[in-house]
Amino acid sequence: MNEAVPGRSGHRPDHRPDPVPAPGHDPVRDPWRGPMRAALAEAALAPGTGDVPVGAVVLAPDGSVIGRGRNEREATGDPTGHAEVLAIRDAARAVGEWRLTGCTLVVTLEPCTMCAGAIVLSRLDRVVYGAADEKAGAAGSLWDVVRDRRLNHRPEVVEGVLADDCAALLTDFFRAR
Ligand SMILES: [Zn+2]
Repeated sequence: MNEAVPGRSGHRPDHRPDPVPAPGHDPVRDPWRGPMRAALAEAALAPGTGDVPVGAVVLAPDGSVIGRGRNEREATGDPTGHAEVLAIRDAARAVGEWRLTGCTLVVTLEPCTMCAGAIVLSRLDRVVYGAADEKAGAAGSLWDVVRDRRLNHRPEVVEGVLADDCAALLTDFFRAR
């Protein structure tokens, strides 16, 4: 070990101030809570068509919402009608091309394999999700498609943003059925 010996002043050469975070403050997840609330608002509309409440938004590099989607599998009879795919399509239409470089997808539930594939293919910089999906999640739970080192594009992953709110929406939906 080559640890620096504290000087006579008691200050270590590598000393950095330790910020004291406010209770419950989470510097990684906090900036994504606002956008996650927008995704939750999308999710809340899904049960109106008998769809499982999952919602997503795509943010431009400046943080503005450029795409929205909610699970519409029942509404449209489309097996690929997941919130993430629809939000990505919406954003690509807004941008005018298929590359969503610099953009962030925010979704209430951990993406499945199909959506993880769509996230990689659209070159999104980041995926932020709320509740983990232990049974089908492909962003860390069952698979980790988005961070698979064999792929040439690997978005950053932020998980667990408002996870309890996102999970409660799903639990309430299935309990009511
Ligand atoms: Zn999916």
